[in-house]
Amino acid sequence: MTQHIMKVSNLPSFLTDALLQEDYTVHDHAHIVDPHALSKVTALVGTGSESKVDKKLLTMLPNVKLIALCGVGYDGIELDAVKERGIVVTHTPGTMTADVADLALGLMLSAGRRIPQADKFLRNGDWVMESFAMTRRVSGARVGILGLGRIGRAIAKRAEAFDMQVSYCSRAPKADVSYTFYDKVEAMASAVDFLVVAVPGGAATQNLVNATVLNKLGPKGYLINIARGAVVDQTALLQALKDKTIAGAGLDVFWDEPRVPAEFRTLSNVVLTPHIGSHTEETRRAMADLTMANLRAFYAKQPVPTPVPECQASALT
Ligand code: NAP
Repeated sequence: MTQHIMKVSNLPSFLTDALLQEDYTVHDHAHIVDPHALSKVTALVGTGSESKVDKKLLTMLPNVKLIALCGVGYDGIELDAVKERGIVVTHTPGTMTADVADLALGLMLSAGRRIPQADKFLRNGDWVMESFAMTRRVSGARVGILGLGRIGRAIAKRAEAFDMQVSYCSRAPKADVSYTFYDKVEAMASAVDFLVVAVPGGAATQNLVNATVLNKLGPKGYLINIARGAVVDQTALLQALKDKTIAGAGLDVFWDEPRVPAEFRTLSNVVLTPHIGSHTEETRRAMADLTMANLRAFYAKQPVPTPVPECQASALT
């Protein structure tokens, strides 16, 4: 019997293909053609960064019992409404950790050594006129990681290979690492050359990196954000880049993706990527496989492999 699921964002092609192969009926919440479809839908599926599921949407979907996200972040899901209904949310932790950490290092190198600007300089034919301006050494730099979770730890490991001095800021110190711990991001920002954001998005972390933090990072400091745009006060960041009160930034994530303020594009001290942290074939396939495993387990009435921490208790019942 076909299971009716509804997509709440665009889906990566690996996932769309797998859903078709396994004979799911996939409804699109933006284009419901079957008036009875809403009550037939038992699971929602979407990406971690784009999916927005609130109480209002869930009220229209009385039989939904699973939200299977293809991604690690779930800041777009209204957890109170989900828990009230006993809905389980699953995600795909660990599948993209290495890729996102690789991109963080790529952005640090790109921002510090100005690799995209150097590429442009050569392509423009400027090299025949003059040498490219000096850049900043990345090896041996002081890096502060905001959020020492799966991705934060993978960034730290890579930073160690570059002889960097690693510090981190979390809500609690981690007993198994020897990196310097800060409980306030302001204090860590004053003490590092690269501040790397790796915390989840959501109300608790919104604008955690604000004008004060950027001020502490200072004119020689770089901000790298591979987490969520909303963790950084984007207006304050634009101002800091314009005024050069920080040295530069490397950004993979933005407040209102895919809309990025035009001013960013005019600044030469920022490197921009279009939310490609997990954008490799290998990772996208692994994310789709784990999303399918969660869906399969749910419909087979088995424990789902990767519920989000807030749903772990209800996933077992
Ligand atoms: P994770 O393992 O849950 O790690 C998040 C860490 O953040 C936790 O260790 C937590 O430590 C810390 N944290 C939470 N709130 C904090 C706060 N207020 N202040 C300081 N630290 C805080 O998650 P992950 O797998 O590393 O992923 C992190 C985030 O990266 C995701 O939530 C997602 O938004 C983003 N992401 C982006 C991409 C991309 O394509 N750019 C791809 C995947 C993920 P404590 O509990 O000790 O505070």
